[in-house]
Amino acid sequence: MDEPAVDVSIVLPVYNERGHLQDEIDRIRGAMEASPYSFEIIVVDDGSTDGSSETLLNVAGIRLIRFARNRGTGSARKAGTRAARGRVVVWTDVDMTYPNAEIPRLVKELEGHDQVVGARTSEQGTAKALRVPAKWFIRRLAAYLTDTDIPDLNSGLRAFRRDVALQFLHLLPAGFSCVTTMTMTFLANGYSVKFVPIDYAERAGHSKFHWWADTRRYLRQVVRMVLLYNPLKVFMPIGITLLGVGAVKLGYDLVGKDFRVATNTIVLLFTALLVMAIGLLSDAMVQLTKPRDEVDPAQL
Ligand code: UDP
Ligand code: MG
Repeated sequence: MDEPAVDVSIVLPVYNERGHLQDEIDRIRGAMEASPYSFEIIVVDDGSTDGSSETLLNVAGIRLIRFARNRGTGSARKAGTRAARGRVVVWTDVDMTYPNAEIPRLVKELEGHDQVVGARTSEQGTAKALRVPAKWFIRRLAAYLTDTDIPDLNSGLRAFRRDVALQFLHLLPAGFSCVTTMTMTFLANGYSVKFVPIDYAERAGHSKFHWWADTRRYLRQVVRMVLLYNPLKVFMPIGITLLGVGAVKLGYDLVGKDFRVATNTIVLLFTALLVMAIGLLSDAMVQLTKPRDEVDPAQL
């Protein structure tokens, strides 16, 4: 492969962030210039309609990708990553929430790892009562599936190796769960993800987070996580439990009920079969989507 042109590519998805766009770019550039790393800033204008697009045309020293219509955070981050020339790619939000001045520190922490995630230490944002338990559950599930303690599953701030990420880019969704998928995919494929604590500030401008659409997305995310990362770990225990209960019931029917097998016994056994078959099929799918020429994980 060609030598990377720069050390770090910072990918910034922008959808209607006019008020603080310039501030965000300035503080990132300032921090990077003070660091030992060479860098490029790639801004992806995701069909902004608030004048961000016009502002961006006048910002010097950035690479600009412009979408004619709004396609979602994930699409924007993916396009930026494909265009990136750095050995390391950094993802962050352009809403003043993440401590973007600390990007060089994150890049430094990446040595010996494949991805570094800035883990937020406090939960911010709207609909807290609803979001906290939902997020807790999904985080527990993710931790169970990957055998890894995950302090922040959907942080928007992360640095990762571009060569590793390119293997999975086509699997990432178009919307918000893109960042979650990035963490899970690295872990499920045996790459190291390091979590470093970061602060998280009040958002400038409006969040694009919508409670109903996002609850739906959350549920879909749960299903996908199970199916895509480690299906056997969920389907097999359920299937084997059902099979065990069914077998005991069958024994009881045969011995105690004079060979009259009850309907619920048959339902139990068939359900067990079905659950295990779905688990095995999902597992085959997971194996088939593994990259052909795997990039080696980072060496310590
Ligand atoms: N964004 C985008 N396209 C969208 C929605 C958001 O490019 O359709 C950008 C947005 O400008 C921000 C980042 O993606 O820089 C994350 O969005 P947001 O901060 O609204 O999400 P939250 O952090 O609230 O989950
Ligand atoms: Mg944000």
